[in-house]
Amino acid sequence: MSASVIVSLSHLTSMKLQRVNTYIIPHLFVLFIILLASTSTRAQVEELEDEREFDYIGASEKGPRHWGEMKKEWSSCKNGHLQSPIDLSCARVKIIPRCRQPDIYYTATNATIINRGHDIAVYWKDDAGSVYLNGTEYFLKQCHWHSPSEHSMNGRRYDLEMHMVHVSPDNKIFVVGALYKFGHRPDRFLSQLEKDIKHLVDNEVERAIGETNPSGLQTRGNAYYRYVGSLTTPPCTEGVIWNIDRKIRTVSEEQVRLLREAVHDHAERNARPMQRRYNRDILYFRSKSRAKPEYY
Ligand SMILES: [Zn+2]
Repeated sequence: MSASVIVSLSHLTSMKLQRVNTYIIPHLFVLFIILLASTSTRAQVEELEDEREFDYIGASEKGPRHWGEMKKEWSSCKNGHLQSPIDLSCARVKIIPRCRQPDIYYTATNATIINRGHDIAVYWKDDAGSVYLNGTEYFLKQCHWHSPSEHSMNGRRYDLEMHMVHVSPDNKIFVVGALYKFGHRPDRFLSQLEKDIKHLVDNEVERAIGETNPSGLQTRGNAYYRYVGSLTTPPCTEGVIWNIDRKIRTVSEEQVRLLREAVHDHAERNARPMQRRYNRDILYFRSKSRAKPEYY
């Protein structure tokens, strides 16, 4: 093989390589960006299992006023215009009469109770059921409690708020919320968990609690508020669909005290301050039938 042939071959090869490079490298780059975006989306969808990085103390450097400055990924807490919680005022809602309730199917499956530092949460690792709304299925991941309530109704905050967090396969979030006031009748679901919550006080961070049926938490009211907001803890991810039961439930003072005493921070509250509503719509749904949602 002559030198000129070798040169032209190597030239050809390098041309081919260049062509391959100009083809592959941008694609690899795009793939990298997609992977990066999907990783960060996944990270932002999940609430933190260890909440020690922030707190609820007004004067603290880690308090709600500073959440948005503490990490780049938490900037929505400060700059977002779809933040939660907000006041659900009757005077400002759009009433949607005779609507159909979302399809809700829950089933008992193994769960774990976790002390996240500022709250107690129950996680279902397997499929515990879902909510089907407007063509999207949102799977139940976990529930947890805030005291006092985060959302208010007509300016009034209640004594406790429960959140059931559902996530769709493409990482959209749907949260069912319920507010409670102190009453003689304790909450049934919390009553079932009392022994396990007591175990978390200074003993464990996490405890398997066996088969647990989420339908014990489900709203049975026939009216609820819906609006688009955010997670109420960092990273304050926006686009969360909130569905909050209009009916106020009851919980005993002892149950709320137990939830507060079990967490590591022993703080009096784990409720984020009220956020600006901007010009968001709050829809008020009244279901057309009093039929209970289906469970299995
Ligand atoms: Zn919450």
